[in-house]
Amino acid sequence: MGTLQSSTRAFGSVRRYIQGPGEIDNLKNYTKPLGSKVYALISTGLFTTLKARLEKIYTEESDCLFFDEFSGEITYAKLDEKTANARNFGAELIVAAGGGKVVDAAKIIAKENGIPVVLIPTIASTDAPVASMSAVFNDAGEQQGIVLFQDCPDIVLVDSELIAQAPVRYFIAGVGDALATCFEAKLSAMSDSPNFVSGGKRFTLAGMAICEACEKTIMEKAEAAVLAVRQQLCTPDVEDVIEANTLLSGLGFINVGLCGAHATNTGLTVLTETQGTLHGELVAFGIIVQRVVEQRPLEEIAGLISFMRRIGLPTTLEELGVHEMTEEMLDRVTTKALSGFWKRYPYYVSKKSLGDAIMMADALGHKYSN
Ligand SMILES: [Zn+2]
Repeated sequence: MGTLQSSTRAFGSVRRYIQGPGEIDNLKNYTKPLGSKVYALISTGLFTTLKARLEKIYTEESDCLFFDEFSGEITYAKLDEKTANARNFGAELIVAAGGGKVVDAAKIIAKENGIPVVLIPTIASTDAPVASMSAVFNDAGEQQGIVLFQDCPDIVLVDSELIAQAPVRYFIAGVGDALATCFEAKLSAMSDSPNFVSGGKRFTLAGMAICEACEKTIMEKAEAAVLAVRQQLCTPDVEDVIEANTLLSGLGFINVGLCGAHATNTGLTVLTETQGTLHGELVAFGIIVQRVVEQRPLEEIAGLISFMRRIGLPTTLEELGVHEMTEEMLDRVTTKALSGFWKRYPYYVSKKSLGDAIMMADALGHKYSN
């Protein structure tokens, strides 16, 4: 049931990806060719620290910085305000530092202003920094839409020291987002669905190889990496998992495609109960749901759940804040989920069967939680 109308394949990527301890201090080397009027968008929680750090880097007379704060959800109203701030300043480029929301917002502001964007993710909780899309929400945290871009961000600069020092929960959520990449890519490829490059083309071998490298890295190194980040250590395993969470996961999904795990995540965002959760945590639960729909053998799903638990990922609805799932709630979740990437699943999925798979995933999560 292929959905593509042509066999043309395409591959897209960020122009440059840089990752290493203390790399933020080299920021100016990378931004200099792009311009000197820098609009800096920084997460509120890190604003004072990072503003001071950037001011130490940009000390020349020709350097001109405008600092703006970002907190809460990415809403259309907030985007309008920040876009106007960058325009009124006459920004030549955007430097954005923070979590997935800041990164996603900066991509939209850069596009609206027609200027390059340099992203500095301070946590490795999602693959957003590399992706050629941003998710927009309402104030209640419900996903409102996805903005697609022609190109991936210009530069992604990852300071692995900053990542290792951030709360481990973000790093773990990033592992959940990355773990989904290959499972979803294989289904999207099987249904011959369009990727997210050049309006949607067939996946390349390179794209699929990245997804496989992502899965291998997560399966082999995530457990040790999480243990290290719990102690704020930046070991070679941590470096590899940062790359998997950010670069491999991001390039993997845009170049091949998403499916049930992310669709289930989008569905779960309609519940106010899930507001305190992170994207990767919802996606992680979505992986179990997808594996149930795929009819994977029980021992395989049990193995996946115990791996996720060793990492520290949620595997039950309760752990996502949903203590009771009423029929009405499940109806809203499945309606939203089926309107999204579940369409890329190679076979028909009904509302009832998806609802049952969600409840089954929860039951399995409880059963194999020890
Ligand atoms: Zn994701």
